[in-house]
Amino acid sequence: MITNEREQPKTTIVIFGATGDLAKRKLFPSLFNLYKKGNISEDFAVVGVARREWTNEILREKVCESIANVAESTDQERAQFATHFHYLPFDVTGKESYKQLNELLTDLETEFKIPGNRIFYMAMAPEFFGTIASNLKTEGVTETNGWTRLVIEKPFGHNLESAKQLNSEIREAFNEGDIYRIDHYLGKEMVQNIEVIRFANALFEPLWNNRYISNIQITSSEHLGVEDRGGYYEKSGALRDMVQNHMLQMVSLLAMDPPIRLTTDEIRSEKIKVLRALRTIDEREVNQFFVRGQYGPGIVKETEVPGYRSENNVNPNSRTETFVAGKLMIDNHRWAGVPFYIRTGKRMKLKSTKIVVQFKELPMNLYFDKNKDYLRPNLLIIHIQPDEGISLILNGKKVGPTGETTPVKLDYSNDGVDAGNTPEAYERLLYDCMLGDAANFTHWDEVDLSWTYVDKISKAWELSDKSIPLYPSGTMGPIESEELLIKDGFKWWPITD
Ligand code: NAD
Repeated sequence: MITNEREQPKTTIVIFGATGDLAKRKLFPSLFNLYKKGNISEDFAVVGVARREWTNEILREKVCESIANVAESTDQERAQFATHFHYLPFDVTGKESYKQLNELLTDLETEFKIPGNRIFYMAMAPEFFGTIASNLKTEGVTETNGWTRLVIEKPFGHNLESAKQLNSEIREAFNEGDIYRIDHYLGKEMVQNIEVIRFANALFEPLWNNRYISNIQITSSEHLGVEDRGGYYEKSGALRDMVQNHMLQMVSLLAMDPPIRLTTDEIRSEKIKVLRALRTIDEREVNQFFVRGQYGPGIVKETEVPGYRSENNVNPNSRTETFVAGKLMIDNHRWAGVPFYIRTGKRMKLKSTKIVVQFKELPMNLYFDKNKDYLRPNLLIIHIQPDEGISLILNGKKVGPTGETTPVKLDYSNDGVDAGNTPEAYERLLYDCMLGDAANFTHWDEVDLSWTYVDKISKAWELSDKSIPLYPSGTMGPIESEELLIKDGFKWWPITD
C-alpha cells in the first residue's frame, strides 16, 4: 500500500514472549523507532506477557536498556516511551491468564482511547501458537469493537503436515485476512525494491523473461555458525530455516508477473502463481537439482572456528545441512528454460545477500573473439544486505587505441541516502500490520506451496544413505555447489562484485 500521509494507527499490542530475545533485539527497538518518527502517537499500549514473574517496572527497565542505542534520544524520551509498557506473568495454557489479559487490555483501551484494536504478536516457541490462538478466542480476548490481528513468527510448521495443523488451529480463532505471517526478508528495503526496479523501469521489464535472461542467482550467506541455537537448528537445517521461506519468497518476487494493482491480493496472487509453476522435483532426481553441505572446522574472518558437529547441542554425527544450493525451474511462458539458482549457508567466506541477474549474450558479438577474456555478460546485481543498492555491469571500450573492451560497473548504493533513517525490517512490518497492509506477509497458500516443494527434497535427503558433503568454514560451500552450475555452462558470480 502506498500512503503519502502518515497515519498514526491506534492499537494495543500484546507480545507473547516479552522476556525473550526477539522482543529485546527487534520488537522494542522497532516500536521505539516508530514512536520517535511519529508513526505511532502517545495513544498506544504494549502488554508483555511471559512466564517470568516480572513487574511493569522490570519490563520498562528492560525496554529502556534495549533501546538505549537505537535512535538519538534522551533518557526522558525513553522513559516516557516505556510508560506505555505493561507486564503480565502468564501461563499460556491457563484460562485465568487470558481473563486477566482481557481486563488489562480493556483498561488500557479506556486510558489511551484505543477503539478495541488489538495485535497479538507470537514471539515464543511455535508449539504454543495454536493453544494461545484458541484461548484468546474462547476467553473472549478477540471479541472487541475494533479489529484483532495475529502476528506469527517463523518457523510456520516443520513440514506441510505440521504447517497445516498449525494453520487449522489458528484459523479457528482468526480469519486468514487477520493473520500476518512474518517473513522478515519481506520487510527489507532492497527486497521491497525488487518490485520497483522491475515494474517502474522501462529498461528492465521488457527484458525480464527467457528471451533475454540466461539465469538468476540468489545467494544468502552468513559468517555466523549456529551460535546457541544448535537444538533448534538440528531439527531445522538450512532448507527449512532459509529456503522454504526467505529464498522462495525472493524467487517469487523476481519471477512474478506484474500485478494489475499494488494491492495485497493482487501481489499475492501473482507470487502464488510462481510457486504453483515451480517444477516439482521427483525424489529420485533431487541430487541433480539440489546440493547440501555441512560446515567443518575452518577459518572465518581470520579466526579459527569449530565444525558444526562440535557445536553445543549438536549431535556429533549430525547429518543436518548448514548449506543448500539448488536449481529451480519455473515452468511458465516467461521463465521456461531459465534456471533460478539459490544458495544459502552458515560459516561462509562472505556475509552477503545478493541477487545476480545474468543476461544472455548477443546473438553475434563483434567483440567476442578479440576480447574473450574480458567480455562479460551484462549483469544486474541487487545488493540486499549488508550493503543495499544496485549495480549494472556493462561492457565499454578500454581507453586507448587498442579497441579492447572492459567491464564497466554502474553502482547505486543506498548508503548515505537515508543514512540512519532506513527502517529496520521489523519496524516496517509492525507498522504495516498496524495499518492492515498484509502485502509483505505470507499468505497461507504461499506457505502451503513452499512446504510442498521443500518436503520432497527433505524427504529424499532423509532417505538417502549418502554422507553429507562437508565444507571448510570460511569457504563458499562444497564443490558440488560449483558443479551444479558448471554442468549448465554457468558459474556463481563472485558476490564481492
Ligand atoms: P526466546 O526463547 O528468547 O523467548 C521465548 C519467550 O517465550 C520468553 O519470553 C519465554 O518466557 C516465553 N515462554 C516460553 N514458554 C512459555 C510459556 N509456557 N508460557 C509463557 N511464556 C513462555 O525465543 P526468541 O528467540 O525470542 O524467539 C521467539 C520466536 O520468534 C520463535 O518462534 C523463534 O523461532 C522466532 N524468531 C526469533 C528470531 C530472533 O532473532 N530471536 C528471529 C526469527 C524468528
